[in-house]
Parts: sequence; C-alpha cells; structure tokens
Amino acid sequence: MIGRSDQPFQPRPMDMPKPTFRRLVRAAGLAAAFALPGCATLDAYTATTPPVPAPAPLRGEFGAFVEGLWPEARAKGVSRATFDRAFSGLQPDPSVVALTRKQSEFVQPIWAYMNSAAAPERVAKGKAMAERYADVLARIERQYGVPRSAVLGIWGMETNFGSFTGGKDVIRSLVTLAHEGYRGDFFRNELIVALQILEERHIARDRMTGSWAGAMGQTQFMPSSFMKYAVDFDGDGRRDIWNSIPDALASTANYLKQHGWQPAAPWGVEVALPHNFRFVHRRQSLSQWAQSGLKRAGGVALPAGAAEAYLFFPAGVRGPAFLLTDNFIAIKAYNSSDAYALGVAHLGDRSIGGQALVARWPVTEPHLSKQQTEEVQRRLNAMGFDNGEPDGRIGTKTREAVRRYQEKHNLVPDGYPTPALLERMRLASN
Ligand code: CA
Repeated sequence: MIGRSDQPFQPRPMDMPKPTFRRLVRAAGLAAAFALPGCATLDAYTATTPPVPAPAPLRGEFGAFVEGLWPEARAKGVSRATFDRAFSGLQPDPSVVALTRKQSEFVQPIWAYMNSAAAPERVAKGKAMAERYADVLARIERQYGVPRSAVLGIWGMETNFGSFTGGKDVIRSLVTLAHEGYRGDFFRNELIVALQILEERHIARDRMTGSWAGAMGQTQFMPSSFMKYAVDFDGDGRRDIWNSIPDALASTANYLKQHGWQPAAPWGVEVALPHNFRFVHRRQSLSQWAQSGLKRAGGVALPAGAAEAYLFFPAGVRGPAFLLTDNFIAIKAYNSSDAYALGVAHLGDRSIGGQALVARWPVTEPHLSKQQTEEVQRRLNAMGFDNGEPDGRIGTKTREAVRRYQEKHNLVPDGYPTPALLERMRLASN
C-alpha cells in the first residue's frame, strides 16, 4: 500500500525474495541486559539485535544525503544511536532504482487483473484462511465493524495471505527512493517515520523488512500508516504487523474504519440493469436503485438500505456492472486503483463463499492500447474535459471526463473509452 491518492496502480513485482525474519538469533543473556522495567516485550527486539558494531561512516554524496536527514530525524525524536545504526554500512539498492525506472508499455486489461485476483488457488487459500482465523476475524468484526471479507481481500491482494511480504530492508529501500527524489518528498517522509518506528522499538532494525517501496508486513503498511493505524490485537504489548496475524488483520480493519467504513453497508454489489434502463441517476440509495429496476446480477433483489451507491462499469456497459458504496472508497484509500479495490472486494467475497461474477468480461471487444488511452486523455483535455496528466491508465478522473463527454454527445455514459470513442473524437477534430 502506498497512501497517495494519485498513485496509478502498478502490480507488485513477483520476484521479491522471501522474508528472512524467521532467522532467529538466540542471544542468551542479552535480552535481560537490555530489559526495561515494565516492558515485557523487548525480548523479541533484543534477541535479534546483534551487539552493535561501530557504525560504518557513509562516504561521498550519498553519505552527505543521509547526514542531511539528521536534523529532521532528531527533531522527530530519533536518537543519534538509532540513526547511526539504521544507516550503518548502507548503500543505495540498485534493484530499487531499477524498479522506479521501469515503464510498462502495457496496461493489463481489467479482466486479466480480476482473473488473477480471484484465481482458484487464491480463492482456495482465502477460504482456508477464513476458516483458520475465524475466531480472530469475528472479534475484529465486533470491535471495528469491518467485515472479515474486506480484511481477507486486502490480505490476499497485498501478500497472497502472507506468502510474499517482501524481504527487502525497509530503511535501505526508503533511503534509496528518497535519495532518488522519487515522487517528491513522499519517501523521505516515510523514511523519517521508519526511523521513529525503530526508535520506539516496534521492530528490530534487521527485521524491518518489506516491499521495494517500503510497504511492510502481512498487509503492507507504509511506515506512516503503521504509526497511525497499527494496533496490538493479540495483547502482547507490541504492534507486530510483520509476524502477528491478529495484529496485522486488526490493523487493516482499523485502517478501513478510520477511512470511513460503514458497518451497515456492503462495499457494493454486482448488478444487472433492466433492458430499458435510462442513465438518469448517478448516485442514490440502494433502495432507490432497486426502484429504478436494478437487481443483483443473477436476478435476486438488491440488498435494501439507505447507503448511497454509484454505478460503475469497469470495462464499459458491455461488461459487468457494479453499484459501489463509500466502503469501496475506503478500500481505495489503501490503493487508489479501481481494479485493485474491485480485486480486494471480490476476492474477499469469494473467500467467505460468495459467488463468481455473473456477467462476462468483454474480452473479444476491441480495447484501447496504452498509447491510444493517452491520446483519448490528451483529446479530452483539449476539449475542456480535464482529466489530469495523460498516463495511459484509465483512472477515476479519466472515467469522469469520458462520462461527461458521452453525456454531452448523447452516448451511453459508462465512462469507459473504447476505440470507437477515440475514432469519433478524431473525426470530430478534422
Ligand atoms: Ca501484538
């Protein structure tokens, strides 16, 4: 998870090494030597902290960059000892630099993404985890008002239920990204928070592992999210999102709760439109949508309720249609991609026995390449339908601009750009 709302979704690289934190070093006596009164939880910390070698000074321009972080770290309460130990002997990680420069020429169609999100093996694993952690998940539901499906969906999408939490050194990844100036100050700020996490001894220096972008633990919290939302749910006094499944899952539920999850509402529902459906309303309550003739896909009545929902066509009106509530927006706080959030929602439903999507994806319909999508975005901007910097990805802004263009030209306003739509734009500009 990267908590920036303008971040386009990028699939996580699958070639990351397995976590190395199982490597437990038994340092007899050391734990007692470091123990503080009233803090019974330091054993795990001290047990894996080897005797501190003299910090290796960093040289050159990178060393100067690291030293330049010190005043801010100090102001945020980080001690010099923690600071020096954090960066001792570090050099930038070239593999992280390479990942920042990787520009995909290809954007995966949503059906490929969704098929992988809810692949049979992953759904089977989700069901097994739902069963194994049924008691913990029930307690989490009661305490946070967030259903187990949402928590399981995020766990499954982020790390395949703990299978790949990322084995990279978080401090090294973050300092590499900060040094690159990748995405402005974002990673520099996360790095300072990561130092605070070390200072407060939530995790030992050498066990603070995560993804190449610094996302940590079972459900991939960035350091700032750890500080704001991580909770100790197993009652051992530590917020351990790396090794404690109850802590990680409750932290995820807390994240969704704090981002507005409404206990009484679903995330959304796949719907079937009536044949004579008129695109008049964009957002209304589920009960009103039922009056407008919408049913659950498969023909069952919609869940009644006052929760408002909006219509969403991830692959246009010829593909599956959904009504989405604000709980879907809460999932998008984790990662702003619609495909990601739909993957979370659907995998979560399947993990608790929900049905597969009913409508078929329009796999045989022509769809836009990344370059053509960029052209649509440029043309929309030129016509006054502002949708931000063209990036070849169909995000919320682009969908909204397309929808407004379609409304203006009496087309079905599904917000989904197609080759036919691009052709129309080209002809109109001649
Ligand atoms: Ca704990």
